[in-house]
Amino acid sequence: MRITAAVSREGAATPVLEELELEGPRTGEILVRIATAGICHTDLRAHSGGVLPTPRPVVLGHEGAGTVVEVGRDVKGLAPGDRVVLSGSSCGVCAQCRDQLPSYCVESMPRSFGGSRSDGSTALSSGSEKIHSHFFGQSSFATHAIADASGAVLLDDAVPFAVASPLGCGVITGAGAVLNSFGLRAGQTLAVFGAGGVGLSAVMAARLSGARHVIVVEPIASRRELALELGATAALDPAVDDVEAAIRRVAGRGVDFALNTTTFAAVLAMAQRALGARGVLGFVSATREPFTAPLFPMLVGGQSLRGIVGGDSQPRRTIPLLLEYWRQGRFPVERLITKFAFADIAAAFSACRAGSAIKPVLEVSS
Ligand SMILES: [Zn+2]
Ligand SMILES: [Zn+2]
Repeated sequence: MRITAAVSREGAATPVLEELELEGPRTGEILVRIATAGICHTDLRAHSGGVLPTPRPVVLGHEGAGTVVEVGRDVKGLAPGDRVVLSGSSCGVCAQCRDQLPSYCVESMPRSFGGSRSDGSTALSSGSEKIHSHFFGQSSFATHAIADASGAVLLDDAVPFAVASPLGCGVITGAGAVLNSFGLRAGQTLAVFGAGGVGLSAVMAARLSGARHVIVVEPIASRRELALELGATAALDPAVDDVEAAIRRVAGRGVDFALNTTTFAAVLAMAQRALGARGVLGFVSATREPFTAPLFPMLVGGQSLRGIVGGDSQPRRTIPLLLEYWRQGRFPVERLITKFAFADIAAAFSACRAGSAIKPVLEVSS
């Protein structure tokens, strides 16, 4: 079928809308009419190339939501007309998948970043030119996507697609870090470094869990304000405040958990210094510069450093849970969202890069 998709090409500043050919769903795949698609920093990095191994030209997008149009062979529990949000793709049979931790699937890297199915084929083409697809098993910056059924999570009619979209990646990453990876309990303390979509989702989850102190460190004033509205108990400006001293003033000998959502090694180091005894420092992306940790305080403090992908979430469990909190008004994820028309994807990319939009969501179709 003919579709419109945002294609990322080598050297282009942003993806550009093009008409492409999309093939039908194969075994284990579904055809989804995309309603909305969130933009994540991973899309920005994959578009620019270099760090991530995704080949171009490619259609990115890994926070799609929409309606199932057609299901391929061996797809269970999904039918045409179902409303879904798309999360990552996983094999379903490896040890991590069986442990309900699909973000650590043994096939996670090729399934997320390989730009094709495991047999090397892609679902997209432009004339005779092959266009890479299957980014995170979905490539949802498009009017229609061939998605891996493993990442699809059913939505009930009450949830707007725009609200559901960011739960495909960014929101479950931040909220899951607190709820699943840290298992934060009432009375414990958290410091969040960077109040973007991931950081603010962590703040909302920490409030839900009854955290005693939730301290946000963020250079942009409007984000600090929003963090306080969403449940942070203190918001620090790293350009002005002595972050370490301020955290210790509030949280005594340091926090139980620190979450670094930035890519700066200096921020990761700052987060480590904020940790209390047996504290856990979680990070959701690698740092641009090498990170060297002084091990002695970690040793005597019994502290740990923990990589976290997808918030250790089983999307079919975590997404409906967070949407139930949303329905009750306890998880106002819509506060993070700025909507953009699909045709304005260039502006949405720029706003994401500049930090003026926390979670841009493309409205692809109504
Ligand atoms: Zn697996
Ligand atoms: Zn993402």
